[in-house]
Amino acid sequence: MLNTVYVGLGSNLDQPLQQVTQALEQINAITDTVLVSHSPWYKSIAVGPIQPDFINGAAKVHTALDAHSFLTALQNIEQAHQRVRKEHWGPRTLDLDILLWNNDTINTERLTVPHAFLQVRSFVLLPLNDIANELTLPNGKTVEALAQQCDRAGTEQI
Ligand code: AMP
Repeated sequence: MLNTVYVGLGSNLDQPLQQVTQALEQINAITDTVLVSHSPWYKSIAVGPIQPDFINGAAKVHTALDAHSFLTALQNIEQAHQRVRKEHWGPRTLDLDILLWNNDTINTERLTVPHAFLQVRSFVLLPLNDIANELTLPNGKTVEALAQQCDRAGTEQI
């Protein structure tokens, strides 16, 4: 079965734009996976400790992998970017999240889907809306409506 997945990308260290652009190629190179489309990039002011701005975006992916195998593949890519994760909410070389997995709700030790930030964070909703505005979440809300309602302060397309 081919799964339709939306992935959130973020970076605020070591040439962030290069990190996320390269990550798209690496996602496309995951076994039995193809990158369908991706959003423009956004710059967003970091939440949490004082740190550089983030570059954020979203990608649509088709994969034959199951959700946990796909998460492992994303985490391998994060590791390859020598991700530094010293503190919660702290700076990171590359952050890859599964935002949506088909129209599924997943709640396991390793995975919460739809992603916890999805409904509130403009740096997730705005790029997702660029590539998936017709989408309805498992809770019945549309990405378009959520993107219109969210607080856009601190997030701008580059
Ligand atoms: P962070 O890198 O800070 O976003 O958090 C990584 C942790 O979140 C990992 O331990 C994952 O198992 C967990 N996680 C839970 N839900 C998700 C999701 N939808 N996408 C990516 N990681 C997730």
